[in-house]
Amino acid sequence: MSKTILITGSSTGIGKAGALELGRRGWKVFVHARSTERGIPVLDELKQNAPNADFSLVTGDVSSIEQVKSLAKQVKEQTNTLDVLWNNAGLTLNERQVSVDGWEMTMAINHLAPFVLTRELLPLIEPVQGRVITTSSGAYAFGSFNWDDWMNEKSTYNSFKAYSNSKLANILFTRELARRVNAQAVTVHCFHPGLVSTDFGKPREEEKQKSYIPGPLVRSLFMIDAKAGADTGVFLAEDPSARNINGNFWFKRKVRKTNRFVNDVNAAKLWELSEKATS
Ligand code: NDP
Repeated sequence: MSKTILITGSSTGIGKAGALELGRRGWKVFVHARSTERGIPVLDELKQNAPNADFSLVTGDVSSIEQVKSLAKQVKEQTNTLDVLWNNAGLTLNERQVSVDGWEMTMAINHLAPFVLTRELLPLIEPVQGRVITTSSGAYAFGSFNWDDWMNEKSTYNSFKAYSNSKLANILFTRELARRVNAQAVTVHCFHPGLVSTDFGKPREEEKQKSYIPGPLVRSLFMIDAKAGADTGVFLAEDPSARNINGNFWFKRKVRKTNRFVNDVNAAKLWELSEKATS
């Protein structure tokens, strides 16, 4: 029987490349887009590029906790089991914005959405000894939390710092989730995809995203394409060798050391705050 994966933020970039690759390899792929209008052309494109693959569209703006729960519900209505949840949707914003639930927007999209979605979908993942993967970033190394101001309400907003904190949150979440779940039942990973030429930083109508679009020369010299950026995610989704290693940060298919801020105390603290923020 084919394996099933949900990849958030698969309307473009790394997520879309991962969807295409796994679709071609025989996976059933739930392709996620923020809306039906955004998703339908992507689904058509994927089906054209992989005519025999099994793609289904699920939707939701993941800045909203209610919409994250609706996204989980759409998946639950279509499958009883999920082999892999790949939390990938993410962005960086050039000014402080607040989500409908009142949280700093970068943290809401990049961390709280995976936090809620994972917990909603764990009952589908556990029975098949599945995996939870989150696209983090090497930018995590520039992050650190002041726990009294983790939503950046008091200190001056800096978009790179906010982004780095959210990517540090992905690593702490991975560590704490791995500690909490039964390692026999669920494997948890996060990874840095490299410097990838995608729509990352491209201004969207919906959010005032950080406008950081490197020119063609920078892209060709220093950046890899989306398929190469998805490689470690695809590897973590299906490689047997990634089954028995839990709670780590990967890059180029290898576990990487993280910094001192990544520890059990901080991981537990973030979990506690995230639970309060989303319940
Ligand atoms: P893209 O901008 O190309 O893709 C981001 C995806 O996330 C899109 O599908 C986007 O949808 C979706 N998304 C963003 N906000 C929302 C939202 N509120 N609701 C629903 N979907 C949303 O960037 P990448 O592919 O590069 O980024 C994927 C992940 O990789 C991110 O988590 C990013 O932080 C991480 N990463 C990227 C690096 C890079 O060099 N590109 C380096 C390190 C990490 P839409 O298109 O509709 O906006």
